[in-house]
Amino acid sequence: MSEWLEVLRQIEPLEDVMLDPGLIAQMARPTEPANLSRINFYTPTFKAYASSEITGCGKQAWPAVSITGGECKLACDHCKAKILEPMIPARTPQDLWRVVHEQVDLGAQGMLLTGGSNHRNQVEYAPYYATLRRIKDTFPAFKIALHTALVDLDIARRMEDAGIDVAMMDVIGAQDTITQVYHLRRGVDDFERSLGYLAATEMKVVPHIVLGLHYGRFLGEWRALDIVKRHRPDALVLVVVMPHYAQEDRPFATPDAHEVGRFFMDARAAMRDTPLLLGCARPAGRVKSQIDAYAVMAGLNGIAHPADGMVELAARLGREVRVTPACCSIAVGNEVMAIDTEDAGLQVDVQKVIEFERAQRLPPDIKIVRVEEQM
Ligand code: SF4
Repeated sequence: MSEWLEVLRQIEPLEDVMLDPGLIAQMARPTEPANLSRINFYTPTFKAYASSEITGCGKQAWPAVSITGGECKLACDHCKAKILEPMIPARTPQDLWRVVHEQVDLGAQGMLLTGGSNHRNQVEYAPYYATLRRIKDTFPAFKIALHTALVDLDIARRMEDAGIDVAMMDVIGAQDTITQVYHLRRGVDDFERSLGYLAATEMKVVPHIVLGLHYGRFLGEWRALDIVKRHRPDALVLVVVMPHYAQEDRPFATPDAHEVGRFFMDARAAMRDTPLLLGCARPAGRVKSQIDAYAVMAGLNGIAHPADGMVELAARLGREVRVTPACCSIAVGNEVMAIDTEDAGLQVDVQKVIEFERAQRLPPDIKIVRVEEQM
């Protein structure tokens, strides 16, 4: 344990970041094989280290498309449909067909398809299935990751028949959270049943758990983990609730980073052979450094938009570090489609990335000189 504390002390961006030594001691158990595995970081910041054939941000590689634009009937307290706002709208099947054509021309390898929910936490994809099938028949290599929301068996099969590659849904493990945060008259069992229906298909299944979903507190996360574990998904994405989307009359606290770290450790222990990914949604600032440091130490497989110093931390802990110069939307695609292949991210000169990160922290006049030296 003291070894890991010593490592942390050497990493400049973590100098003032408070971490729990007891938790680190548990994460540092020498027999934990997860701690020795490859870790993949996703961020456009590493573009300077990309090979010439990888250009631009991953948004073009895996655009996010919403069939309702920015509209959502549920307007959950933690989101208020804000997550949909920056997405490409495709409000009709014809729009979707056009959007996919445009995105394929721009070099997209796939898309994340989602939309706002109705009052039963269903996204109404029914009018789109024929178009999705046509998209898959026309562009077989184009991958479609679908945010399914709640489904029944018939809907899950229709998604599968449409050619969906990856089915994603948020799993909530507390009735109070479903009722109060999502304003939904559904039970925890509905979430488990939906996951079971998706897992019964040939689609790859990637559930998400939002940590701190009950107004910034943990409530149903461990139960959600139990549910997810039972259905043996292809990967699990963890995100941390972001308080700033909430309205003043229903405020969210910033989730406790140490509790987040404990959850990472428990998730890693519960699902030893399943890729665990930290998605890009999480609070910014000091707490992000804490969360990300715990994610590296707990042995997560992928981190989108890592905080400063994480590449160095992973490298110093002896993990094989790969970076993918892309926005986090590519992360699910990569983790699920290609985590075991050699092209799952670039193996980079870690020292070069560390020097790059350090140069970013220097005053601008010095920074320009240092960055140019590296290019
Ligand atoms: S259903 Fe989804 S998009 Fe709609 S408000 Fe809730 S989390 Fe946001």
